[in-house]
Amino acid sequence: MTPHKSTRAIHGRKDKTYLGANYPIYQSTTFAVSKSDDYDKFINGADEEFYMYTRYSNPTVRNVEEKLAALENAEDAILFSSGMAAISTAILSFVGKGDTIVAQRRLYGMAYRFLRDIAPKFGIEVHFVDEDHLYSFNKEISNVKVVYFETPINPTTDCISIPKTVSAARKAGAITIMDNTFASPINQNPADFGVDIVVHSATKYIGGHSDIMAGAAAASKELVRLIRETLKAFGGCINPIDAYMLDRSLKTLKIRVEQQNRSAQRLAEFFMRQKKVNQVLYPGLPSSKNYKIAKRQMSGFGGMLCIELTNLDLAKRFCDSLEISLNATSLGGVETLVSIPVLTSHIKMTPEELKAAKVTEGMVRISLGVEDPDDLILDFKNALAKL
Ligand code: PLP
Repeated sequence: MTPHKSTRAIHGRKDKTYLGANYPIYQSTTFAVSKSDDYDKFINGADEEFYMYTRYSNPTVRNVEEKLAALENAEDAILFSSGMAAISTAILSFVGKGDTIVAQRRLYGMAYRFLRDIAPKFGIEVHFVDEDHLYSFNKEISNVKVVYFETPINPTTDCISIPKTVSAARKAGAITIMDNTFASPINQNPADFGVDIVVHSATKYIGGHSDIMAGAAAASKELVRLIRETLKAFGGCINPIDAYMLDRSLKTLKIRVEQQNRSAQRLAEFFMRQKKVNQVLYPGLPSSKNYKIAKRQMSGFGGMLCIELTNLDLAKRFCDSLEISLNATSLGGVETLVSIPVLTSHIKMTPEELKAAKVTEGMVRISLGVEDPDDLILDFKNALAKL
């Protein structure tokens, strides 16, 4: 019997010693061998199952990696100390001096800065392209090894066609790396559309309680093996306690995300009826330009939405009046968070860069938690009434 993904997220490796319901935390940096010849396994490369040193591999961590692979319909997965460790390590596993990366222009800010400022120091050329160009960059850019993108995009929740991007990358002989953080593995599985490496800030939905920094990459066994070699050298491994916390979070991921989807849909519909809100950006609204793409590649529309008020002053007053939602950066936790992109994720950008990112001063990004949606609606209604 092949269990469903949500069942796999609950039942992973078993604690064979005491039959505990939870897999133990192997809080050990080193593991002894019973005889020196056992090191042959390590030397021959079977190292993710040969526990020797926790930066290489650890049973508590492997339990979660196997669950994540199942959730992303991938052969294998690997955990990191943060989403940025996952992104930078995955990218640098496949490019070097003289290679070219094509990246979507509108990305999570630090991923953008990594590609703009750090990757060129390694002799890597990075071309940022608009969404339409992602589907047809082949004519102009050569020697492309990696295509890097994310969908839905932060903070506007605009969606990019995954199959079209994969098809352009394949024509170029490049591998695709996609950030699936905004959707979570419950709402979208990029591997089903041919994405080679799916990366996550597991700090967000996968962790889900705003208390763990973690990252992940899911891919074929061979690609994960190559990424693990880079991780061993860069050192961005997760620690066993955080991996255990992620294991606990995975058990409720599906029910959390489904509730967040429902709340986001209700809130988006509520904001559509409010005169003081100029724009509501949510792929689950049939009037959204992203609805068709989202419907093709997402099984749920997600817990992130963005509204636009008339100016920054109104956006600040709105956020400052909320009594339940927290005015905080980050996303994907059980508590609803609001943030003003021009004060958080999109600071130090020129007016031209903001225009290219389609971010305006009056925008407020909302990450729905799992509170009662009626309470959230009342909270947002009261805040709007004060404007
Ligand atoms: N990707 C996205 C879409 C994010 O929003 C973030 C963080 O905000 C990251 C990656 C980076 O993850 P971390 O903060 O876990 O390093």
